Amino acid sequence: MRIVVLPGDGIGPEITSATVEVLEAASDAFGLDLQLIHDLAGHASLVKHGATVTPALLERVKASDGLVLGPTATFEFKDEAKGEINPSKFFRKSLDLYANIRPSRTYVGLKAPVGPFDLVVVRENTEGFYADRNMEQGNGEILVTPDVAISLRRITRSCCERIARSAFELAMHRSKHVSLVHKANVLKIGDGMFLDVCRMVAREYPGMTVDDFIVDAMMAHVVRAPQRFDVIVTTNMYGDILSDLTSELSGSLGLAGSLNAGEHHGMAQAAHGSAPDIAGQNIANPFSLILSAGLLLAWYGQRTKQSAFVRAAAAIDSVTEEAIASGEATKDVGGDLGTRETGEAFTRRLRKRA
Ligand code: NAD
Repeated sequence: MRIVVLPGDGIGPEITSATVEVLEAASDAFGLDLQLIHDLAGHASLVKHGATVTPALLERVKASDGLVLGPTATFEFKDEAKGEINPSKFFRKSLDLYANIRPSRTYVGLKAPVGPFDLVVVRENTEGFYADRNMEQGNGEILVTPDVAISLRRITRSCCERIARSAFELAMHRSKHVSLVHKANVLKIGDGMFLDVCRMVAREYPGMTVDDFIVDAMMAHVVRAPQRFDVIVTTNMYGDILSDLTSELSGSLGLAGSLNAGEHHGMAQAAHGSAPDIAGQNIANPFSLILSAGLLLAWYGQRTKQSAFVRAAAAIDSVTEEAIASGEATKDVGGDLGTRETGEAFTRRLRKRA
């Protein structure tokens, strides 16, 4: 398996370095023969190549099976003409990474504000309100006059169908319960289409429990009783917001692992941003990116039918449990280690798992 590694901005290099150590340990311990190809994205690439991401980098990624993308300072990238391209959108759009899989669960030994739960947000990743990627050319945001702005949202039957199918396939391996999240009471056409298509796909999966929730009420439901949910499928922006909430409810945004999956490539990317407020202090939680890398290994193992990758991914999950339970973790999840030391402790445990 070939994986391009891009450290990104802010806390990105710190959590990516810990993740690389874990991937190398997983490769040795489980005989994965991983090939890690190190490159740049974000500010470091802007300085070196004049752009946050480059066509040459995309070619290298296309020739690989996947990538690990550290968080990038996307809010600072305003002008594509100056090479300031949002790397997330670049890869999601160029590689058609349409399914954003964001699991959230609580852990023994970590106080969770709303009690135990284990769920997955399945978020459509290629259209919706994301103005920099929902058009073939141009941008889905328009300034009509200096005081009037319009933001367009794109919803297509085909994107709804494939994300619904991703959610139902996932639910087949979990507790066969899918919750559809929408705002079809107001966005009757766009969210109405999403809801209709999800219900149509649901008919292909007998024995499935399907319910639906309006997105604003859903925020209250997950805070009140997150344990009633298992797989949640929703459109792009709702999923982005909801999954930050569910990972914080699990104990910390620093546990927010996420996979962006398409037909041919997978991208491990923490759900959070570059966290400039804690960058360079060796305090960022690396579990978000380590868990994302585990999701990437599992995705690759399932599609190529190589069980060693699936076992390595399961080991990453259970070492995370052990690390949190024993306090070998960063402060945000109750430990007293730095980012680097958390990665080293994790790697030691993983090597023993082989
Ligand atoms: P953020 O997600 O970076 O941080 C929000 C809060 O969570 C901060 O208090 C931060 O310290 C904390 N946090 C985040 N990751 C953590 C970790 N691993 N361990 C411990 N604490 C963690 O959101 P922000 O500060 O609003 O955004 C910073 C930058 O990141 C912006 O430029 C934004 O556009 C960008 N961003 C990038 C991505 C991405 O690359 N996928 C996603 C979201 C935001």
